[in-house]
Amino acid sequence: MYKQTCTNLLNLTPVEVTAWLNSFDAVISDCDGVLWVYGNAIGGSVDTMNQLKKMGKSIYFCTNNSTKTRAELLAKGVELGFQITEEGIISTAHATAEYLKHRNFNKCVYIIGSEGIAQELDAVGIRHTRVGPDVMQGNLGEFMAKHLKLDSNIGAVVVGFDEHFSFPKMTKAASYLSDPNCLFIATNTDERFPMPSFVVPGSGSFVNAIKTCAEREPFVIGKPNPAICESLIKHKKINPARTLMIGDRANTDILLGYNCGFQTLLVGTGIHHLCDVQRWKRSTNPEDKKLIPDVYLPKLGDLLPAIVNTMTHGSY
Ligand SMILES: [Mg+2]
Repeated sequence: MYKQTCTNLLNLTPVEVTAWLNSFDAVISDCDGVLWVYGNAIGGSVDTMNQLKKMGKSIYFCTNNSTKTRAELLAKGVELGFQITEEGIISTAHATAEYLKHRNFNKCVYIIGSEGIAQELDAVGIRHTRVGPDVMQGNLGEFMAKHLKLDSNIGAVVVGFDEHFSFPKMTKAASYLSDPNCLFIATNTDERFPMPSFVVPGSGSFVNAIKTCAEREPFVIGKPNPAICESLIKHKKINPARTLMIGDRANTDILLGYNCGFQTLLVGTGIHHLCDVQRWKRSTNPEDKKLIPDVYLPKLGDLLPAIVNTMTHGSY
């Protein structure tokens, strides 16, 4: 329905919105920039998601944020008022651990990342290195001669968001990856976090640094790679054609929807806006065309009156 037209739902009649609401059974929503921002719920998002659930839709939260475990994400969602369960949380830290578990990985993981990854690996019994600071000691010569020690048990390098990213970590990761049998996994490739007056590097910045140095391409777990939704589709928990992906960032959320055959909704409360979509519509690059969502709303909460209307009047 409205395939890659970026139709503004506010311009449709109530009957048309109801038909659209009835065209999907499952909803997968990005978190930051759609449901909440800086830890606060975005106006109307809680009621909208809870009402969609009340309508009978399966609800999933899907985040590329690798710093938190599913349990932590669940606690945050519940605290803000969302009716969600741990099975409804799709996170890159958890998906990374699951990916390694399904490969019967039995070596040790070198982590460039934070606690979320470490705890999800612990939960499936996979050994890993410690997270936190690993700072440069002395000059390069001293570091190489005295301090650089490699662990022969490492069988995978996992790169996510790491606020303690450093020269020693980069050196170790690239050295481990010089063994072609060592797996190279990136939780996600989001370039940056926009803040009001700063730019904060995202996981993608660290992944690119390691990729350049290791001269290898990582396997990316997070959006837009379908790997993050693979088990939902494989276990028939969702039917892609009747699944709606909601996001604020086109090159992760909307592209995931495109890659999985989901319907897509872009909301204007985060990274990308209508002006970006106009640019992709004009572009001659076929990759840009994949970023165009089916439908658009200024914010998720704008859907609430239409849901209440549909639930009151049925399907007309
Ligand atoms: Mg987002």
